[in-house]
Amino acid sequence: HAKKQENNSFRYFDLQMEKDINARMSMVQDLKRAIENKEFEIYYQPKVELTSEKMIGAEALIRWHRPEHGIVSPADFIPVAESSGLISEIGKWLLYEACQHCKTWHTLGFHDFSIAVNLSPIQFRRGNLPSIVSKALKHADLSANYLELEITESLFIDDTEHVKEQIHAITAKGVSMAIDDFGTGYSNLNYLTNFNASTLKIDRSFIKDLLTSAQHLHIVNAIIQMSQVMEIDCIAEGIEDTATWDILKSLGCQYGQGYYWSEPLPYKEFCRLAQNHIKHHQSAP
Ligand code: C2E
Ligand code: MG
Ligand code: MG
Ligand code: MG
Repeated sequence: HAKKQENNSFRYFDLQMEKDINARMSMVQDLKRAIENKEFEIYYQPKVELTSEKMIGAEALIRWHRPEHGIVSPADFIPVAESSGLISEIGKWLLYEACQHCKTWHTLGFHDFSIAVNLSPIQFRRGNLPSIVSKALKHADLSANYLELEITESLFIDDTEHVKEQIHAITAKGVSMAIDDFGTGYSNLNYLTNFNASTLKIDRSFIKDLLTSAQHLHIVNAIIQMSQVMEIDCIAEGIEDTATWDILKSLGCQYGQGYYWSEPLPYKEFCRLAQNHIKHHQSAP
């Protein structure tokens, strides 16, 4: 009996594995066509200065309108886009599009709005990222200081020289780099100086229970203190309520992002939100 059950469970895993592999292959096939078919859309989430609640720009967050599947979140397709290499093509499209949108904001009167774009470590593989970034800026006629690139600590685990050279080439143009999901990854603090990081984004996992976890409060406080000493900007992600906003302000965190102000919005809706915001802030004393 034991033998038979074992065989059955192996067979079960075989079937499950086959299903997973097929689902993945069909996702890769669909992703290959998604750019041409214009199935990607960029949503924008405002970044806010905590003391004044002034909007300073937005983060670009990709969405995929996959036929017969609806809206697919990046968590579900970015890993597949990464392992298939397609992320380079998708990331390039997004960079061009986001830079153009940011340029349009300036012409709409949202002066000094900046745009933050997430990068995958895979996009550093080919070595041509600095030139892609330059071309995207030039194409949009956007000056480099309005672009911020968000990278995660995982980028620093391997291939350091190759990555470092590209980051230096990019920051030399005036583009800034933010360390996303800070505190969750490979915490070698050397890279903060080695990689010219100008912003730390405190991960939402520390922010979401700031009010209930003394430990997380201490961690967030330490990150803010460290960023001040190092003269690096600090932004908290995932702020959902007034109390969390208040604590972060009192800890000296400069910037924030979260559902408290807005979820990520499609371009047009984001423009409407920004328009109202500007009106409000201009009429305020
Ligand atoms: P991330 O860059 O850390 O983005 C923050 C995520 O937190 C976004 O999820 C955002 O919608 C969500 N978020 C923001 N504020 C709140 C809040 O107050 N509460 C809660 N519960 N969530 C909040 P999203 O858009 O699903 O993106 C997930 C991740 O996918 C991103 O994490 C980023 O790592 C990746 N991603 C998104 N767009 C791109 C892209 O264009 N390229 C690459 N390589 N990765 C991307
Ligand atoms: Mg990000
Ligand atoms: Mg993040
Ligand atoms: Mg995060």
